[in-house]
Amino acid sequence: RSTKGRVVIKDEWPGYSLKLFTYPEHYHEDVESVYIPHGVIMDRIERLARHIMEDISDQNIMVLCVLKGGYKFCCDLVEHIKAIGRSADKYLETRVEFIRLKSYLNDQSTEDLQIIGSQDLSFLRGKNVLIVEAIVDTGKTINALLKHVETFEPKMVKVTALLVKRVPNMVENLPDYVGFEIPNRFVVGYALDYNEYFRDLNHICVISEVGKKKYKI
Ligand code: 5GP
Repeated sequence: RSTKGRVVIKDEWPGYSLKLFTYPEHYHEDVESVYIPHGVIMDRIERLARHIMEDISDQNIMVLCVLKGGYKFCCDLVEHIKAIGRSADKYLETRVEFIRLKSYLNDQSTEDLQIIGSQDLSFLRGKNVLIVEAIVDTGKTINALLKHVETFEPKMVKVTALLVKRVPNMVENLPDYVGFEIPNRFVVGYALDYNEYFRDLNHICVISEVGKKKYKI
């Protein structure tokens, strides 16, 4: 697998002060900083869309969106793919399917990966598949999903992750298209949650200790 670069966010990056951006007032105190502003996320996704178009523009593609965290990334990515197609008069036929996975409790990864909803992905047989995942941490989730998808014998599988975490033993080259490589910190926003909270935050932010306690279950 080859990657086409990524935006690397250094360990020392503190994020932008919350005062400099707008965000839902109810999360005041719950996040430390604006780590990646929404506009930057959108600009990076536009570039990823272009890479994907360059690689598979003459074919059709089955987009497999990993819910819930991946829904905004998937939606914005597909919009960009369509917009690029319109402006170049070169359309990529896209279909979107959804899969729901759950492996996290609070901010800890748990061993068992549950596929919620349809386990039967036989509609992927013989197709070009693009798995769209918001964040790859240890890589366990994406590895398990990839194995599961491959049992349905797709023609080709590519993986895109908006974020990958810099962690020991990280799965260096697993996603084909990576938005940002980030330090090992728990981030929320842009559909990424902490026990279902923060999905309504547009920026990607670092959760605060107050926030972790407040929404712990
Ligand atoms: P992995 O199996 O790679 O360790 O974990 C991937 C999954 O864990 C992601 O699909 C996501 O649901 C969750 N996850 C990992 N890190 C974070 C994080 O920093 N914030 C949020 N909200 N979820 C995370």
